[in-house]
Amino acid sequence: MTRKKSEALFAEALKHLPGGVNSPVRAFRAVGGKPFFVDRAAGAHIWDVDGNELVDYVGTWGPAIHGHAFAPIIDAVKAAAERGTSFGIPNPLEIEMATTIKELVPSVEKVRMVNSGTEACMSAIRLARGFTGRNKIIKFDGCYHGHADSLLVKAGSGALTFGNPDSAGVPKEFTAHTIVLPYNDAEAVREVFDANPDQIAGVIMEPVIGNAGLILPVDGFLQALRDITAGHGALLIFDEVMTGFRLSAGGAQERFGIRPDLSCFGKVIGGGLPVGAFGGRADVMACLAPEGPVYQAGTLSGNPLAMAAGIASLKALRDSNAHERLEDRGARLEEGMKAAAREAGVPVTFQRCGSMFCGYFGGHTVRNLDDAMRCDRERFAKYFHGMLDEGIYLAPSQFEAGFISTAHSDEDIERTVTAAARVLKRL
Ligand code: PMP
Repeated sequence: MTRKKSEALFAEALKHLPGGVNSPVRAFRAVGGKPFFVDRAAGAHIWDVDGNELVDYVGTWGPAIHGHAFAPIIDAVKAAAERGTSFGIPNPLEIEMATTIKELVPSVEKVRMVNSGTEACMSAIRLARGFTGRNKIIKFDGCYHGHADSLLVKAGSGALTFGNPDSAGVPKEFTAHTIVLPYNDAEAVREVFDANPDQIAGVIMEPVIGNAGLILPVDGFLQALRDITAGHGALLIFDEVMTGFRLSAGGAQERFGIRPDLSCFGKVIGGGLPVGAFGGRADVMACLAPEGPVYQAGTLSGNPLAMAAGIASLKALRDSNAHERLEDRGARLEEGMKAAAREAGVPVTFQRCGSMFCGYFGGHTVRNLDDAMRCDRERFAKYFHGMLDEGIYLAPSQFEAGFISTAHSDEDIERTVTAAARVLKRL
């Protein structure tokens, strides 16, 4: 497998883009080496500029639930583009998008469209603060909610910490109201609420964490958070940017039977175009401008191309057996990968929820960020490059979930498992 053209393009990109990329994880720094450049993608496959074909488990970081270049989405975008690319005044597709979201996710009574997951989470936090008149928010160690200042916070290991910014350029004061707690520890949440009466606006969380590998909520954790927040007049905010429409048509909240006050969406909701959304209780959403005092706006929000792509993506999920298919593919992959690791004698913990998965190199169960950090990242990096050389593209970090699409065939799964068996034996 040669990557000469990709290497030349990356050398050129480094002259013009910081790190050669427009989003950091694409630079492969967590695994070493250089990224490949894509020529085109279709279904579950990507072709790089050197003509190598790869089975893709990144799926543009989640949006490509139907695979790449899905015909209904392409057709919808073409038809919309013919009518104009942006209006900045209401268009009927915005209503169709809102009603489609509401039909799939009943906790959403009203919705605001935005342009990214970051915007959705940032705005939901502002709304929660505006609605409750409280400043503090709780987030969990290992959950990523985009790069808004107040959410870019790293936790002290397992301790109950008041936020330290995770990035240069974020004043400590901006994260002073962000409390970071360990995931899957409801008691810690209870204690913080008791210690800060009438001060906490809400809890934001990934109901299943996809930004520290793949971490599932332990039994009762989500329900406990629902009860604690309700008992304290605080809002429960599910960041379903990754899990929304993926873990079931109604997202993680449908899968686990929990009704949050607000939800944030991204990725699948845009069918590969830049889209995010947040929505929830009508009384909370009524606080949003122009109805209420919480400001939020966007030149391109509700963009007709983005709405057309998103509607096509969501309706295809609603009107097919997509989630059964995803579950089936996920189960096959899990079974095959577990067997491959066992046979190779490599301790890998394969964690999965529907079509999201992670193979942790370590062999221990991962329930929070501390557990995830105890994995062998060097071994993962070797595995990643081994798989890439076999034509299998996994996320270039131990701490990113993999995504299966409805376009992954039995042969794709088989090819992946066979490659993994070979690579794991060589480790
Ligand atoms: N929340 C979650 C759970 C995410 O996974 C991401 C992105 N990976 C975001 C928010 C931010 O979304 P975006 O990259 O579209 O800004």
